[in-house]
Amino acid sequence: MTEKPKFHVITGTPAPDTPKEQAMKRVRSMPRPPTMISCHRCGGAEVIQTKIGMMYKDGKATGGTRQLLCALCFMRGERVVLVK
Ligand SMILES: [Zn+2]
Repeated sequence: MTEKPKFHVITGTPAPDTPKEQAMKRVRSMPRPPTMISCHRCGGAEVIQTKIGMMYKDGKATGGTRQLLCALCFMRGERVVLVK
């Protein structure tokens, strides 16, 4: 009967502690810079804000799900949602 190869646990540098990973952690913890919202279809930066499912309460329209649509695509009859 042949002896099975033994596996050793190598105590080296843990993977998530490499300088690269530390840099990635630093990048991830930083606040994201503001980015211009632009249409992925036409590249336009003009948006229309819409709300779906608003409630009429005490004489005011409240709630609803906000969506940003591309104004240029909307003019052409296309409904392109930019931000849900
Ligand atoms: Zn567009």
